[in-house]
Amino acid sequence: MSTGLTTETGRTAWTTLTLPATAQSFVKASDDPLESRDPATGELVATVRVSTAEDVATAVEHARAAWSRGGWRSDGAQRARVLYGFAQTLRANQEHLAELLTREQGKTIHEARLEIAGSAEMTEYYAGLARAVYGRSMVLKDDVQSVVLREPMGVVAVITPWNWPLTLLIRSLAPALAAGNACIVKPASLTPAITVEALGLLDGQPDMPPDILSCVIGSGSEVGDALVGSNGVDMIAFTGETQTGINVMKRAAEGLRKVALELGGKSPNIVFADADMDKALAGTENAIFTTCGQICTAGSRLLVEEGAYYEFIDRLAEMTRNLRVGDGLAESNQLGAVVSAGQQATILDYVAAGKKEGTLVAGGNALTGDPYVGGNFVAPAVFTDLPPRSRLIREEIFGPVLTVQRFSDDDEAIALANSTDYGLAAGIWTQNLHRAWRVARAIDAGTVWVNTYHHFYSEAEVGGYKHSGIGRQQGVEGIHEFTETKHINFDGSPTLW
Ligand code: NDP
Repeated sequence: MSTGLTTETGRTAWTTLTLPATAQSFVKASDDPLESRDPATGELVATVRVSTAEDVATAVEHARAAWSRGGWRSDGAQRARVLYGFAQTLRANQEHLAELLTREQGKTIHEARLEIAGSAEMTEYYAGLARAVYGRSMVLKDDVQSVVLREPMGVVAVITPWNWPLTLLIRSLAPALAAGNACIVKPASLTPAITVEALGLLDGQPDMPPDILSCVIGSGSEVGDALVGSNGVDMIAFTGETQTGINVMKRAAEGLRKVALELGGKSPNIVFADADMDKALAGTENAIFTTCGQICTAGSRLLVEEGAYYEFIDRLAEMTRNLRVGDGLAESNQLGAVVSAGQQATILDYVAAGKKEGTLVAGGNALTGDPYVGGNFVAPAVFTDLPPRSRLIREEIFGPVLTVQRFSDDDEAIALANSTDYGLAAGIWTQNLHRAWRVARAIDAGTVWVNTYHHFYSEAEVGGYKHSGIGRQQGVEGIHEFTETKHINFDGSPTLW
């Protein structure tokens, strides 16, 4: 295991991980391994064995049997102990996990540490709720009582993307386990190592029953599809692209399996002329350039009110050109590598298309030569003057590309904000709280931030309007998603009517 991230002369050595380790029998994978490589250097980070269709069937069969045995699903205190223990173990292993996350995903080490810490915090939140999955009782008439129970779904498949692989895993897995389900995790093919390492810490908890947790590895089209299509799975919690979510929903519909979908976004970030401009500028950079723009809630469409437009764009372009892009392991860098050469190519294609339609005021080029050799680096880009129908304005790029549009009043800002198929998040910058309230209410989005951006709380629900998803995660609704509701009626009335 490597310690210390960079030295004066460069990175410390890394020992390639071979996963799953012998003791990690919760990973059901018997096929040849895939290679997980560092997006900043191309270095081999880990080899991870892939699952066959038979492995998926075994995982489902074992999960069903473990869940049917009882115990776990009726013992909230046991589930709380497991989740609290896991949260503490995540914290104790923070530096190793953060380094692995940066090496496998490309994000900055600062962000990787936040991801581990946030995952531990969210696990703790659901550890608390594991003992509070309450139903309710009602006296409906003198001789009629009803009890409404929340019961676990059964076997839940958790399918995750690569951009925040731990946060987005925990956000589904922790409430699903807390509610008393058995879970089978399928991580993105680009981030299997961080997932297996973290899950190993959960599986190792003393009170964790065998087979309540398992993991399968491999491509979405084969391993993911086998899981979604399995009759032994009761629910699929999917986080990923909108089109993949639609495919997953269609496949799940064959067996009428429940889905919770957290999908793509193209979120507006609205700056009014009366905003605190320093705060709005910093917030705008955070909104779009976190994780190199590879974040579902990225504020990728900046809308600026006329009176502030030119000054804001000038300052934003200057700030963007000065952002430090490079190896995520170097503490001073603000943007790391994008996750893969394929993702880099997609981003550069969008930039090329944007140059034909609008004005590129910062970045947009691949970064090559020393110190970028072997990595997938893109200089963060800002576009103005794009036509409203531009693909850059309508489609999720999932990269460090910001488009800017101008508006003249509140109604135009709202119309522009709601003009895409997505509805995941939005930001509003103004000192007029009446306006903030009116605009926030009018925007079709699951989360609206006022004078801030990208602040998430375990207690507060997130999710998508329109094509950004179905269902809610985090908060109390987040645990209810993973339950069935049962009504038990005690009716002592002499007649039915
Ligand atoms: P994808 O939709 O490509 O993949 C997500 C997961 O689904 C991966 O594990 C993938 O496996 C798997 N998968 C792919 N096809 C299938 C299938 N047919 N059946 C079952 N599983 C399948 O998304 P990305 O990994 O590229 O992640 C980026 C996307 O995720 C963006 O659109 C982003 O907006 C969205 N996202 C949404 C969030 C939200 O909260 N709303 C949060 C974070 C990201 P494999 O890796 O092998 O292809």
